[in-house]
Amino acid sequence: MIQLIKGFKDILPEEITLWQQVETLARTIFEDFGYREIRLPILEKAELFARSIGDTTDIVEKEMYAFEDGKRGLVTLRPEATASVVRSYIQQRLYANDPIQKLYTIGPMFRKERPQKGRYRQFYQIDAEVFGIESPLMDAQMIFMLMTLFSRLNVSDITVLINSLGCPACRPRFKESLLSMLGSKKELLCENCNRRLSKNPLRVLDCKVPSCRDAVKDAPSISDFLCNGCESHFSEVKKTLKHLGVKYEIDKSLVRGLDYYTRTIFEIQTTALGAQNAVAGGGRYDGLVEALDGPSQPAIGFAIGFDRLCEILSQNSPISVKPVDVFFIATGDESKKVSFESICKLNVQGITADMDYGDRSLKSLMKRADKLNASFVVIADDEALKSGNVTLRNMNTKDQISIPAAGIAENIKSRIIR
Ligand code: AMP
Repeated sequence: MIQLIKGFKDILPEEITLWQQVETLARTIFEDFGYREIRLPILEKAELFARSIGDTTDIVEKEMYAFEDGKRGLVTLRPEATASVVRSYIQQRLYANDPIQKLYTIGPMFRKERPQKGRYRQFYQIDAEVFGIESPLMDAQMIFMLMTLFSRLNVSDITVLINSLGCPACRPRFKESLLSMLGSKKELLCENCNRRLSKNPLRVLDCKVPSCRDAVKDAPSISDFLCNGCESHFSEVKKTLKHLGVKYEIDKSLVRGLDYYTRTIFEIQTTALGAQNAVAGGGRYDGLVEALDGPSQPAIGFAIGFDRLCEILSQNSPISVKPVDVFFIATGDESKKVSFESICKLNVQGITADMDYGDRSLKSLMKRADKLNASFVVIADDEALKSGNVTLRNMNTKDQISIPAAGIAENIKSRIIR
C-alpha cells in the first residue's frame, strides 16, 4: 500500500465541515474589515524567500522544498505567503491604482520541518496583509480583527503577545549591545546560535535550547533601545488595543523567526496544543516592499495556522456528520427509477437526498438511513407505486404518511425547513 509522506496529511470529509466553517467566517470578517482576496502561485523563485525571510533563517537555510527548474533556476514551494503577496503588490503594480491595499489569502505552505503533532510539512495558513498604512491604529486593528475571529469561533485559552523590534535606526544599537553580552556566553550557546551570532543575533533570543535560554536570561531588552518614533508607535498600539478591549502581554523575548519584521510583532499562543503553542503570528515589515525593489510603502500582516486552529476547535466540539435531508428506500425497478429522478430534482434545489443503488433488505436500508442521520425516508415499492403512492416517514417524530408519487420532490421540499 502506498502511504502518504510523513509530515503531510489528508483532511478527511468528516473534518472538512469545520475547515469550511472557519474559512467562511474568516472571509466574512476580513471582508467586513475591507480586505479582498488574492490567490497566488504555490511555486515561486527561491530568491524571493532568501531576500525577504532572510538567508540565515531556519526556513531558508534548511526547510525549503527547493529544486532547479531549468532556465528558471532555483524554485521552491512557498514556505509562507507574505513574500508572495509583496511580490505581487510590486510586480502587478497594485500600488499604482491605490498604495493602500488590504489583502488576504488562504492556502497551503511547505516547510521541511521535523514533523510532530501540530507541525506539518504541508500546512495551511489564513494570511492577511495591509500595505500603505504606517499608523499604529492599523497594527491594533489587525490584532483586533484576529481576536474577533477567535472569539466568534469560541476559542478561549489564548494569549496575545506583543513586542516592538524597532527599526533600522534603533535596532543596530540593540544588536550591538546584545552581541557584546552574548560574546561572553558563547560556550553556553548551541551550535546554531554560535553560527547565527554574527549575522542574526536576535534569533538567539527565541532559541528553545535550554542552555541558550540560560544565556539570554540577562540579555538587554529592545524596549530600552527604541528610538522616539518606534517608542511612540508602540505605545499607541498598546493604548489602542486597550481601548478596543484586547488583552495582551508584552513579551520582550519575542522576535519571531523571520528577518523582515520592524516595529510591532505579535503572536497568539494557546495552551491547547502542547509544544506547538503558536496559533497565529505576524508583524509590521515597513522596509520589505522597498527591499524587494518596490516603492517605499509600509506594511503589516499576519498568518493563522489553519491546521492548528482546527485542531483546537475539534477538541472543543466533536466532529459532526452533515445529515442527509431525505433517504429513499426503493425496492423494484420502477420505484428505483422514480426515486432516482426525485433525488436529482431535490439535489438541484439544494436538498441532500440519496438512495441505495443495490438490492438490500428494507431492514438494512432503514439502518443506513439512521446512519446517514436522515430527516425523512421515502419508502417506495412497485406495488404501492401502481396505486400512485409512496410512504413518507418523518425520522424525528416517526410519523408515517402516504403521499402521491407524482411530485414527490415538491412535496418533500415543502416540508424541509431550513
Ligand atoms: P509563521 O509563518 O512561521 O509566522 O507561522 C504562522 C503560523 O502558522 C504559526 O503561528 C502556526 O500556527 C502556523 N505554522 C507555522 N509552521 C507550521 C507547521 N510546520 N505546521 C503547522 N502550522 C504551522
